[in-house]
Formats: sequence, structure tokens, C-alpha cells
Amino acid sequence: MKVVRSKVIGYCFGVSNTIEKAGLCIEKAREENLPCYSIGQIIHNKDVVKHFTDLGMKVTEWCEGFEPGVALIRAHGIPDRLRRSYQEAGFILIDSTCPIVAKGASALRKAAQSGKKTIIIGVNGHAETIGLQGVETSEGPVDSQLICSLEDAQELVKEGKFSESDEIVVVVQTTFPEKEFNSIRRYLKTYFKNIRFSTTPCGATSSRIRAAKELAEQCDAVFVIGGRNSENTKDLARALEETGKPVYCIENQKDLDNDLLEKVSGFSTVGICSGSSTPTSVIRAVEDILEKL
Ligand code: SF4
Repeated sequence: MKVVRSKVIGYCFGVSNTIEKAGLCIEKAREENLPCYSIGQIIHNKDVVKHFTDLGMKVTEWCEGFEPGVALIRAHGIPDRLRRSYQEAGFILIDSTCPIVAKGASALRKAAQSGKKTIIIGVNGHAETIGLQGVETSEGPVDSQLICSLEDAQELVKEGKFSESDEIVVVVQTTFPEKEFNSIRRYLKTYFKNIRFSTTPCGATSSRIRAAKELAEQCDAVFVIGGRNSENTKDLARALEETGKPVYCIENQKDLDNDLLEKVSGFSTVGICSGSSTPTSVIRAVEDILEKL
């Protein structure tokens, strides 16, 4: 079987940075003879989480009850209060918040400091959204309005919480689906005259979608490789389903069981693409199995 890789595949720049800093975190903990932690799962990929767990990195959600050590802040960032609690408890923090995520947090902080209203567009409960909701100024937490869908935006207008002339700054979770973001943006712009969108969904996600759609045109079917809890992987799969080609979502090579291999064995060309937190080793392993069919 011929296997074609998407032109944009594997880690995005923010995830590569987190993986590199995770290695530094482990080294630092060893040098200082301290425990090593990541605050939340390092990335949305269970193979990578296992790799670092095997090296001694424990996943924590908060610092209470843990012996102080070296802790990694992942690419999604964390709420300011959580950062402070680790620092006050004596942890050494290694910060790998993606600069694009940090830009959103800083835009919210500046807007609140200058008395503007703030809106976050994001998936409720997503780590990055939680980080943005936890942005603080010296006055305390920034009271941002969370919008998760077009319906939420319509509700916000109906409630009349913001007036037409309010100065409003909007930031978006970097992996929020672009299509949905665009409809929310169009809608809000028709109601609020002084609304400014400080960030947009990250280009790393949209370029993956574009490349995967191009790939689908040359293939009989497409495999999407990525964590089931990865928003950008889910988004990629959704976008590919629109092409009408069969789409198979797998986390790694272990998901290529006999049933699935039999199902795809009739295809002459398949494409493979991945979310931004899928390691190259997993992509290569999937490719090797499919090429032998
Ligand atoms: S998807 Fe974009 S914003 Fe998110 S970690 Fe990757 S590069 Fe950074």
C-alpha cells in the first residue's frame, strides 16, 4: 500500500518546546535530587505522558500534599493563582507556556488594567481556557466572559451584559475550531462597535487542516493519528470528514488491529496526518505497518 504523509505533521513549535523543557526539568530534578512533576498532563498524548512518567515525572494538578520539587508548566499555561501556590510552596517552576498562549493571557491582563471588558472564546474545561480564565492583575482575577459557541454569543447579546459601545477585548483558545471562531467573530462584530480580537486560533492548527485536506484529495482514505483528548486532533478529523473520504482516527500503532487492517487493505493509497502533539516515532510506526499491507 502506498502511504503519503501530510506536508504538515508531528509536533507544533509549542509542543516541541514543552518536550525540550520537560527534558530540562528531569535533568534539573536529578541534579538537585528533587522530585519532578508536570502540572497537568505534559501534552495530550498518552505515549509521551508514559515516556516522561517512566523517567520519573509525576503528573500533579496542584501542589498540596506533594514534596516540593521541579515542576513543568506545559504549553497550555496555568492560572496565575496556581502558579503562585507552587512558588509559595517552594517548587522550582520551568515554564513552557507557548508564547502564542502567553500572548492571549497578556492581552486579557492589559485590557483589564485599562478598564476594558474581556471575552474568552474557548472550550469549557480545556486546560488553556482554564489558564486564560485564571489571569489576574494586581487588583485580582480578571472577570472575563466565556463564550463556547455561537449560541453563547447570542445569549450574551440577549442578556445585555455589555453595551454596544463598550470597549471589549477578545482572546481565543489557540486550538478552538477556526470555522466556529469565525462565525462567533462575525456575529459579535455586528453588535459591538469597539470590539477587538487580540488573538485568533493558532496557525499551527489551521495549516495542519489545510495540508490534510490537500492530502485527502490524493488518497483513498486518511488516518488521523493523535490523542483522543487532543482538541486539534479532533478538529482535524472533523475537517477531513467534510471531504467525504473515509477517515480513521487512531492514537498510535496499537490501534491498527486486524479488523481495521482488513478494512483498509483494499485501498491503494492512504494518507496519514497527525495532531500537533503526536510524536514522530508514533507516526513512523503507523507508516511502517501500513506500508507492509
Ligand atoms: S497549537 Fe499553536 S499555540 Fe498551541 S502549543 Fe502549538 S504552536 Fe503553541
